[in-house]
Formats: sequence, structure tokens, C-alpha cells
Amino acid sequence: MKVGAHVSIAGGVENAPLNARDIGATAFGMFTKNQRQWRAAALTDESILAFRENCKQSNFEPDDVLVHDSYLINLGHPEQNGLEKSRQAFLDEMIRCEQLGLTKLNFHPGSHLGQLDEKDCLARIAESINLALQQTGFVKAVIENTAGQGNNVGYRFEHLAEIIEQIEIKERVGVCLDTCHMFAAGYDITDMQSFEETFSMFDRIVGYTYLSGMHLNDCKSQFNSRVDRHAPLGEGTLGLLTFKMVMQDSRLESIPLILETPMPERWPKEIKLLKGFESKV
Ligand SMILES: [Zn+2]
Ligand SMILES: [Zn+2]
Repeated sequence: MKVGAHVSIAGGVENAPLNARDIGATAFGMFTKNQRQWRAAALTDESILAFRENCKQSNFEPDDVLVHDSYLINLGHPEQNGLEKSRQAFLDEMIRCEQLGLTKLNFHPGSHLGQLDEKDCLARIAESINLALQQTGFVKAVIENTAGQGNNVGYRFEHLAEIIEQIEIKERVGVCLDTCHMFAAGYDITDMQSFEETFSMFDRIVGYTYLSGMHLNDCKSQFNSRVDRHAPLGEGTLGLLTFKMVMQDSRLESIPLILETPMPERWPKEIKLLKGFESKV
């Protein structure tokens, strides 16, 4: 199993693989720019080269890295201005991934802001993805399931399937499942039976072939609360059994399993804990 955390790029993207190696990770998540700003300076050649070199030295393959896009982007924006701005920024994110040789850009599908119905919003998101794929070469658009907070779409497996159905290049679309978002959106994964039922439902509606990564977070919020709040592993409403089942599930082998838990100082311990779950049957 490939396990890691969403690590910092402070000082340059080239530091991410080093930060990941230092916490004992075999996969990692990262931003390629400040996630709270629309614009960023282009990546320099030095930074790109150093990133690739550091990945190689720390044994990270491109598929082990799950890039997350900026939180400002809304590919389902109901207004033309907001939509254009988001599409431009998303394309820039995809280009940055390709410059780094990375294959997976993970993003939250979008929000209708109370101005579109869900179906129209999902169609708009699919169109946004298609436009970005047409203008890039190989990076995969990895749609993350959401907790369904506010006006966000993507909290039902059917939403993910509906977007994928409208994508022109199916090999370049994928899905990232966040354990906290699943539970907050009403998908139980806390015991063996519910875990099995939820994942076979996912396979039936979306399909494992699209599963390109997972975010491993315990949940501070209640089941089906539609509230997105992450907790450290074992300290939330999911509990450790969920993560043990993830680590022993051969269907989740070889995809990046990324912690976004709130206390980075605990990541080395959490990674160790997860790796320990692999061996115990
Ligand atoms: Zn996310
Ligand atoms: Zn979340």
C-alpha cells in the first residue's frame, strides 16, 4: 500500500518529496502553488528539475503523487466571470502538473451557489474538465467526493458517475475518495458490513477502474451531517477500524492513500500506524 500525507511546499515544490520522505511516506499529496491565491509565478526550470530529482532519490513515482488544486476554483460556477476565472486557473494547475511530470490533479467538483440545479452544475463541471483535457496532454482530472457542505455537489456517488459519463477522454478522468467526506455524506464505513456495502456500491455506480487515490481522514462531524471537518486517525466518528479495513483491502493497493489530518506533527506516527495495519490479518 502507498501511504503518505499532504505535505508542505514551503520554499518551493521541490521540497515536497523531501518532506514526504522525512515522515516515512511512500506517497504524498501537495499543492503546486499557494492554494489561497488565484495567480502564482510560473514554476522555474530549476524548481522543476529539483522536484524530479528529489522524487527519484526518494523513490516516488509520478503515480504516487496526488496534486490538489486551489480551493478558489469552482468548475461549476453559475456565473460566466467566475466560471472563466476558474477554468483558466484549473488549466494552469494541469499545466503545472505536467511540467512536474505528475499524472493526477485532484479537485473538488464545484458548487452551484444556489443558482443552478445540481444536474446543470454537474454538466458544467464536465464541460470544464473536457476543456482542460483538450488543452493538455496526459494529466488525469481526479474528482474528489465531497461532504456535501453548503452548495457543493459531488457528495453522492451518482454525481461522480454523472460527471464521468460526460467526459470525452475516459482514460483521463479519475476519482479520489475521502473517508471523512464519505461518512459525513451518509456513506457508512465504520464496520465490516457497511464498509463492504459502501465500497461495492461505489464499484457498481462509479467503478474501481476510476479510483485514483484516497484521502484518509477521521471525521469530527456526525454521520450524514454534511459537515466537512477532519480529525486525527482514531479520534473521530470513524475510528481506527475503518483505516485498518482500508489498509487490508487489496482493491486499494497501489493508489496514493493520503492523510489530510489536522496535526502534521502526528503524521509520522499515523503513517506508522497505517503501515502496521497491513500485516495484521
Ligand atoms: Zn480535497
Ligand atoms: Zn475534507
